[in-house]
Amino acid sequence: MTVDQNREIRELAARVAAEVYAPMADELDVHRRPLPAEERRRLGELGFLGIALPERFGGAGAPVSQALAVIEELAKVCRPAAFQVFESNTGPAQVVNHLGTEEQRERWLPAIVSGEKTMAVAISEPDAGSAATDMRTVAKPTDDGYVVNGAKRWISNGGEADLYLVYTRLSDAPGSKGIGAVVVEKGMPGLSFGAPERLMGFRGIPSADVILDNVVVPKDHVVVPAGSFGKLFGVFSIERLGNSTMSLAIAQEALDRTVKYVQEREQFGKPLIEFQSVQTTLADMVLQVEAARSLLDKAAAGAGTGLPNPLQVSLAKCTANETAKRVTDLAMQLHGGNGYTEEYGLERLHRDAHGWAIAGGTPTMQRIRIVSELLNRRFDQRG
Ligand SMILES: Cc1cc2nc3c(=O)[nH]c(=O)nc-3n(C[C@H](O)[C@H](O)[C@H](O)COP(=O)(O)OP(=O)(O)OC[C@H]3O[C@@H](n4cnc5c(N)ncnc54)[C@H](O)[C@@H]3O)c2cc1C
Repeated sequence: MTVDQNREIRELAARVAAEVYAPMADELDVHRRPLPAEERRRLGELGFLGIALPERFGGAGAPVSQALAVIEELAKVCRPAAFQVFESNTGPAQVVNHLGTEEQRERWLPAIVSGEKTMAVAISEPDAGSAATDMRTVAKPTDDGYVVNGAKRWISNGGEADLYLVYTRLSDAPGSKGIGAVVVEKGMPGLSFGAPERLMGFRGIPSADVILDNVVVPKDHVVVPAGSFGKLFGVFSIERLGNSTMSLAIAQEALDRTVKYVQEREQFGKPLIEFQSVQTTLADMVLQVEAARSLLDKAAAGAGTGLPNPLQVSLAKCTANETAKRVTDLAMQLHGGNGYTEEYGLERLHRDAHGWAIAGGTPTMQRIRIVSELLNRRFDQRG
């Protein structure tokens, strides 16, 4: 087991998770309701939304691993609450933090850190998912800004967030070379949202299309100009640390519940844990969770307050995503009929595990990245 450098904040997060967010988790999932705004502000007051953002904007300027510890503890019991900490510390706000101007940071980060506002990220499109660089959303220059047109799909917090970091074409250059990012604010004329998606999991984290119909965006809303796609995806690696943490939390929770259950539940006159095949199944679960944790710890430690190593991030994401899917499946199996009920919460963990594995780039795409980083070469997926 690894030594936890963030024990204090992790314990605080675990306490808050148990007292405040666990009691509302069922309701948010069953009714597909987002976390109430006042509960998000509570996360802000606790300091959780700005852990990895600079102190001058109200944050703590701490290494990202501290934020991941909080995400993990909240995510074990209430993913919609953890999602808020994920978005602010590892999501699009980090793009503003790392790549925006000081004026942009001052404009947007304090409200995100306090929980007044949220920022979602809009990359994917109906015909550009894994092939993100095929995106067609375009920002055409005018005298004093840009006019943005396009449609984004699967946007988490779509319709709910106040700000959207929209990846868009900012020049005529082909492929990734023409792509940059602009911030679009809710309420800007021409910005609208599709119907809420009815996802298998992720309930309590709204998802919707983001539609941009001649949205006029001022020049100073361009956070990343065309030609810096590499930098943009470099910062996206931080989001993948957050994503991996969500998966790890799901797997750890499924494991913890199973450890308890197999010692309590009796069949054939003895606790399930007395059967050797149950022991080896449990051992497989522990092996996978600990392997995912080690890879994630390594990637997060390497990131510090900066950017993680992309190879380490893809290793961590791939492992954590697949671990969460497999371990929740095994947990359901060892819970028998109870594992298949909503009451025991394992089916929710399993549903959410699938969502986190798709979001942020699939495990298959992480594998391509792993080999690409390992061999230091790019593989043309279109050739
Ligand atoms: C729960 C959830 C939340 C999300 N949140 C956001 C968000 O907030 N913002 C946002 O912009 N997007 C978001 N997404 C979108 C997500 O990033 C994409 O769904 C993901 O990148 C995959 O794209 P796709 O769905 O178009 O699948 P496709 O790209 O069509 O892939 C389908 C399958 O083909 C495989 N595949 C594709 N290309 C290759 C290849 N070259 N080689 C081998 N296999 C390949 C994939 O691995 C996958 O298994 C979210 C998605 C989900 C499910």
